[in-house]
Amino acid sequence: MLYKSTRGDSSRVTSSNAILKGLAKDGGLYVPTQFPYIDIPFKDMIPMDYKEIAFYIINKFFTDFDDSTLKNCIDNAYDDKFSSNLIAPLKNIDDNYFLELYHGPTLAFKDMALSILPHLLKASCKNLNIQKEVVILTATSGDTGKAALEGFNNVDKTKIIVFYPKKGVSTIQEKQMITQDGKNTHVIGIDGNFDDAQRGVKEIFSDKEFNNILSKQNYMLSSANSINIGRLVPQIVYYVNSYIQLLKNEDIKENEKINIVVPTGNFGNILAAFYAKKMGLPINKLICASNHNNVLCDFINTGIYDVRREFKLTSSPSMDILVSSNLERLLYEISNSNPCLVKNLMEDLKVNGIYEINEDMKNKLDDFYADFATEEETLSTIKKVYNDFNYVIDTHTSVAYCVYQKYRQKTNDSTKTIIASTASPFKFPESVIESIDNNYDVLSDFQLIDKLSNISNIEIPKPIKELESKRIIHCSICKKDKMKSMITNILNV
Ligand SMILES: *Cc1c(COP(=O)(O)O)cnc(C)c1O
Repeated sequence: MLYKSTRGDSSRVTSSNAILKGLAKDGGLYVPTQFPYIDIPFKDMIPMDYKEIAFYIINKFFTDFDDSTLKNCIDNAYDDKFSSNLIAPLKNIDDNYFLELYHGPTLAFKDMALSILPHLLKASCKNLNIQKEVVILTATSGDTGKAALEGFNNVDKTKIIVFYPKKGVSTIQEKQMITQDGKNTHVIGIDGNFDDAQRGVKEIFSDKEFNNILSKQNYMLSSANSINIGRLVPQIVYYVNSYIQLLKNEDIKENEKINIVVPTGNFGNILAAFYAKKMGLPINKLICASNHNNVLCDFINTGIYDVRREFKLTSSPSMDILVSSNLERLLYEISNSNPCLVKNLMEDLKVNGIYEINEDMKNKLDDFYADFATEEETLSTIKKVYNDFNYVIDTHTSVAYCVYQKYRQKTNDSTKTIIASTASPFKFPESVIESIDNNYDVLSDFQLIDKLSNISNIEIPKPIKELESKRIIHCSICKKDKMKSMITNILNV
């Protein structure tokens, strides 16, 4: 299996190369040259556990890893760092299925991929006989940063540098990052939003001169963002695994189609579900749920991507994104693998802040359905789910559930549906408590967390409990156009 750029660079690279580089030379994203197919009957997968399904799926994509290396990566990733031995349990609540992706060390779905990425990256270096020190550059809307810091913490021959929007993450998210220990970790707040951070990181990746300077000092850059194919492929696994759980519980028949609802920001998580569909997973609709930054929802409904709008800070900060990187991979698929077209659209976006796809591509968006939830709806949905089912969801999952309710009302589609639950409510105590029971005076975050634990009857997750007494280690901030010089200082180049 080889990988190529969405923007037409003619080189074909191995999975190790694609994982290490993160972004292709021409600024495009790596995509597989063809899609592997799930070639065993689903019922035969019922006895397989999460790790076995992970091996089956990932092995089809990362073909230059030998079996024992890949097994090792998987064993080291999905171990007791996860508080559920199912890794990604599927909760049947009324006639809904919540796929809880937040039982990893940082309590968001980013752990699903970022607990394996460092191992894949190290193995890639070994496969390619690379001796350089790998510098992981990461832009985060709140959850990737902490998950990547945890994953790369004290991994030898790596450094990790995280840029987050100083005013754009929740207090718990920020505290999780700035208290990160490990001698190879760096965390920097920027005076911009996530889009600024992501743009800055991408520019640094494509800066040939800077990369040459780094290379002379024995450094190479890589990415922990979902632009890295090494993050996307492990995310396919939980969709396949949840389908098998439904089958095992006899909630569906073999080959019965399901819907999947994904609260969407950078379009990574929902793209992984789309890739699962391309591999043969029986999926009816992929439901893209946006928050008030509803640029993706508009795109899926009109074929026009228009970022010329106000960036809003919402209670679901990990989805506060206007320029969704991974959409480029979808454009590539729906254009019948036409890199010229993709390149032109990306150019239009950069120059004009808007592009429109052609009719043929629009028709291929049929796999998707999209809507969005306002701030009010997001908060009232948390309350409704709590009142109706005594189940507490976070703000991002609430966006997904709210959009799913709208979908049900509009379409009457009763296909069994999985809702991707992307974060623990304990990461967003203020919004969650405010929506369920705002009958309190000003409480600190940790008092809110106690209250949330009482209300939900769920023990405070260990990583949150430990956070209260942690010391702040990182307090760098920088202007959004000074990211490169921050890196220069850290690496002393
Ligand atoms: C990152 C994130 C999202 C958005 O996922 P994308 O892959 O960027 O679309 C949604 N919810 C939470 C909690 C997240 O951390």
